[in-house]
Amino acid sequence: MTQTHVIDGKEFAALLKTKIADQILNYKQNFTPGLATILVGTNPSSQIYIKNKIKTSHDLGIKSYHLDLPATISEIALLAEIKILNEDSNIDGILVQMPLPDHIDANRIINAIDPQKDVDGFHPINAAALYMNQKGLYPCTPTACIYLLKQTLSSLRGLKTLVIGRSMIVGKPLSLMLLHEDATITIAHSQTIDLKTLCLEADIIVAAIGRPHFLRGSWIKPGAVIIDVGINRSLDPDSKKIMGDVCFEEALGRASAITPVPGGVGPMTIAFLMYNTLKAACLRRGYEVPDMF
Ligand code: NDP
Repeated sequence: MTQTHVIDGKEFAALLKTKIADQILNYKQNFTPGLATILVGTNPSSQIYIKNKIKTSHDLGIKSYHLDLPATISEIALLAEIKILNEDSNIDGILVQMPLPDHIDANRIINAIDPQKDVDGFHPINAAALYMNQKGLYPCTPTACIYLLKQTLSSLRGLKTLVIGRSMIVGKPLSLMLLHEDATITIAHSQTIDLKTLCLEADIIVAAIGRPHFLRGSWIKPGAVIIDVGINRSLDPDSKKIMGDVCFEEALGRASAITPVPGGVGPMTIAFLMYNTLKAACLRRGYEVPDMF
């Protein structure tokens, strides 16, 4: 039986946020980073995410600007709002909360954001920068996964790493980041054959699937490190419990380390959004970007 270390994402996030707040204070004489958030419609989960982001901005000394727009807003009107924010020199980061209503093309919205203010790291220019391992704004959740892995393992060099999920938000960018850390990558998705065997071969598994408790304990190689990105509602409609993609209880005693849900990758994602806002502010204004790794 392996002793499993539970990776405390809340604690790492608190440390990271303190460092970010210190740097913001450091630059106070020169500038205050500004983050603009846009919420279209009244999706309750999106409202909670946005509220957290605004609160964290305030806590860290980032100036926050928020736009609450009706679900009926036209794509053209939303593009016009983004143009205003792109041109506003006080704004360093622009975040449009996803998902957007069906009549709005999310890609067109992402592409309209100034890449220098794209703190989600979804713009094609930033995606290309990541692909080429060049400077840019990188997506927050994959960055959070890399940070937690490096805190746990120090080096990822050569390790057999299985990423389950190939979304543009998590799986794909994370796979590139892992590659840049010299890990040996396998990417699995819904069409993958014999996922269990792939899991049993992996030194590291990152689960970004969106299915509660999908990955079972018996699929984990003893001693493997598990990063659980999933944030899922319980299958029981009466329960408000949030569940990961990994069956946490079964992983205990088998994995050498695992992130819990909640309290693992989630808090780190918000911390890295704040970091990206600081980074965007420094890059745009010609100041040195503080290193948080
Ligand atoms: P997507 O739905 O965009 O992608 C899910 C991926 O899982 C797809 O690539 C899909 O494959 C794959 N998949 C689905 N079923 C299976 C299966 N049976 N076997 C193997 N792979 C499968 O989700 P996201 O990437 O946006 O999010 C994934 C999870 O992470 C969700 O629970 C989400 O809530 C959470 N999340 C958490 C964040 C955080 O801060 N902690 C941030 C972002 C997301 P295919 O491509 O073939 O369809």
